[in-house]
Amino acid sequence: MNVMEIFETMEYGPAPEAAAPGLAWIKEHSPFSLFINNQWVKPASGQYIESINPATGKLLAKVAAANSADVDAAVAAARAAFETWSKTPGHVRARYLYAIARHIQKHSRLLAVLESLDNGKPIRETRDIDIPLVARHFYYHAGWAQLMESELPGYQPVGVVGQIIPWNFPLLMLAWKIAPALAMGNTVVLKPARYTSLTALKFAEIVQEIGLPPGVVNIVTGEASQVGEALVSHPDVNKIAFTGSTDVGRSIRRATAGSGKKLSLELGGKSPFIVFDDADLDSVVEGVVDAIWFNQGQVCCAGSRLLVQEDVAERLIGKLRVRMEHLRIGDPLDKAVDIGAIVSPGQLKEIQRLVNQGVEEGAVMWQPSWACPTEGYFFPPTLFTNVSPATTIAQVEIFGPVLVSMTFRTPAEAVELANNTRYGLAASVWSENINLALDVAPKLKAGSVWINCTNLFDASSGFGGYRESGFGREGGKEGLYEYVRPKWETPDSSSKEFHIVIDSASSDGANSSPSMDEDALQDQVFVSSNGHAMALPAIDRTPKMYIGGKQVRPDSGYSRDVYDLQGHMIGQVGEGNRKDIRNAVEAAHKASGWAFGTTHNRAQILYYIAENLSVREDEFAHRIVQQTGRPYEDAIAEVQVSISRLFSYAAWADKFEGVVHRPPLRGAVLAMPEAIGVMGIACPDEYPLLGFISLVAPTIAMGNTVVVISSQQSPLSATDCYQVLETSDLPGGVVNIVTGDHDTLNQVLADHDDVDSMWYFGTAEGSKRVELASAGNMKRTWVNYGHPRDLMDSVQGEGEEFLREATQVKNIWIPYGE
Ligand code: NDP
Repeated sequence: MNVMEIFETMEYGPAPEAAAPGLAWIKEHSPFSLFINNQWVKPASGQYIESINPATGKLLAKVAAANSADVDAAVAAARAAFETWSKTPGHVRARYLYAIARHIQKHSRLLAVLESLDNGKPIRETRDIDIPLVARHFYYHAGWAQLMESELPGYQPVGVVGQIIPWNFPLLMLAWKIAPALAMGNTVVLKPARYTSLTALKFAEIVQEIGLPPGVVNIVTGEASQVGEALVSHPDVNKIAFTGSTDVGRSIRRATAGSGKKLSLELGGKSPFIVFDDADLDSVVEGVVDAIWFNQGQVCCAGSRLLVQEDVAERLIGKLRVRMEHLRIGDPLDKAVDIGAIVSPGQLKEIQRLVNQGVEEGAVMWQPSWACPTEGYFFPPTLFTNVSPATTIAQVEIFGPVLVSMTFRTPAEAVELANNTRYGLAASVWSENINLALDVAPKLKAGSVWINCTNLFDASSGFGGYRESGFGREGGKEGLYEYVRPKWETPDSSSKEFHIVIDSASSDGANSSPSMDEDALQDQVFVSSNGHAMALPAIDRTPKMYIGGKQVRPDSGYSRDVYDLQGHMIGQVGEGNRKDIRNAVEAAHKASGWAFGTTHNRAQILYYIAENLSVREDEFAHRIVQQTGRPYEDAIAEVQVSISRLFSYAAWADKFEGVVHRPPLRGAVLAMPEAIGVMGIACPDEYPLLGFISLVAPTIAMGNTVVVISSQQSPLSATDCYQVLETSDLPGGVVNIVTGDHDTLNQVLADHDDVDSMWYFGTAEGSKRVELASAGNMKRTWVNYGHPRDLMDSVQGEGEEFLREATQVKNIWIPYGE
């Protein structure tokens, strides 16, 4: 083709990036060994797996297939290194992370080429997005290493971290995991996906190059069944960080349940891309290209559901088809290619299967007229219209270049359609009306919301999901908490015998009274008008359940006896069952408007609860004495700390705020902690009143509505609170209380698909059961593995740790400028 002909057709010519440097590096190293303790080690099995170039289907490299013996060696190296690395000053760790960032930049072209060869993604993306973001993550976290001592003073590293990453952003996911882990003083064993290990192995070379101490980073390649599972179940691993499919995430949740391993899961998505009729449709078209055809749609937060306001739908679909016709698919190393290859034949087959199903279900499929390359694994950009929201293609993550579109009429309908998914990773909102966009953003159940933009990522802004998209955040300050634990939580302190610590200053003489005469509580002495004293039984007061702001009878019609420590019956409470829990969850959902009220109002109500409790201080103290047999001084101190705790969370209600990030773009990111939704709470048996208040106050202060299972042993303090709550203007349904058998009720609550998070403070066995059951809808959990906290202590019993567990951060991206 001569210049004149090119001018006539305006066709792209080939613009290939040279594969030679990447291929030469591979040839020099293949078959690749494992990277353990800064040494290249042959796999114990002597076996290797093949890494294929998806754009050609040809063999690229052979990579070690590790087994559990190799995992053991890597964990042992990481454990030994942890001793020193965790004590290495922040400034020194910062220097290492900084050096990694610099070396990533020095090798950026080789890394970009390797990533495109191994994964099939266009070089334009690896060169301009993946690798620069990798460097940015290490720079950003070098900063946090430097600042850890001053900015996270009450925290220590978790220990040895097992990290399992997917194939869609191989090096970027490595950076998202390794950078914060190292910054916070942990050591890691990382397993890359079996299809895409090469850039992780090049990264290992960088680790050697910069002289990172041996054992701090270990890279173990191989199969999920050999390496992944061994890492997840390894007794000396303190945390698992996983990115991948929801099914595997669920199995990891089950496998780690009760082990005490910290867990963060970044799973799948089916993210909505919402277009209002006043949006700039040409920008929208480019946005859609980025949303669903970036990385061939193999992106967990891909905008795979296009929701368009009805009156502009036809126009937008027309424009989109024109644009799709001009997308270029082909050799990932060609700099003018938009769409590369699908990672494996298995993934390609799965995409085709789901597309066929979409057609069978009656949706209309459209693909451009041009054909895909016949060599390698390619799939054309695909658009479905006439899609019904309940069909498979509208609900299931396709993980390919396939867009399904639906229409809506009103903003409320858009929100409803957008949230009609079991996932909650990201969303994109397009409108020229910023008021509308900012009104819709908080209503979307998604960890990131992009306004008039999409698929933007930065180390400063946390990323992670709601619901079956997993829990935990990566990036931002919030991401650091995934890699630390409170300093007081040492193996020593967590297993030590629990005993009540009383601050003598808080039990002065004015509040003390003689220890209780129990009979006086049961019976009062009635003096008749003729002066004769006669015994009068106390008016029977059997507390019911507290659901939807009303005291309701237990569904079972049964009551259970409550005894004191001497075995005397001191009262009865309702025997709650599955139906009561279901009713309570329903009531909590109905009260979800609580999250959208003002923080000032929530603070006022918490103060009011404190005020009403303080009026009845003495009565509540007596109740504690009666249930626990503890001295009155202890009991009154517990009531007073409960009141103070309510004050703390009233104070926090309007002060636990987000931040505005300034990522390197023209715009800002609002990182806002928001309520998780409906939370289940299982109260501990220690401290009947303080246990209840310490868990309920932070959750409702943050806008959640709660279903609380009172202490099984001492439920009467919680049930006495009904009247306090009723007289404190708390809207019905914000706090629901169910009494009864803990194991039975917790199980129902943890199993419940409409409960978004569960806090459990009880036994080790109970903690395990809650974590296991939570895998059903991937609800967040916070359990104590049978290690009681000293709730009287303000470091263990209140503060930001509770608030973080009661919220999730939503990042709203707002670019500006014309
Ligand atoms: P997986 O979830 O199977 O793989 C992700 C990582 O987990 C890989 O390193 C894999 O190893 C490892 N792994 C798999 N099973 C286990 C296990 N039981 N224990 C420990 N580690 C394990 O994803 P797939 O690659 O199979 O992709 C399937 C689907 O998952 C995609 O179609 C997509 O829907 C979703 N997905 C989501 C991603 C996201 O970013 N959220 C990323 C990738 C996939 P190995 O590679 O050896 O199998």
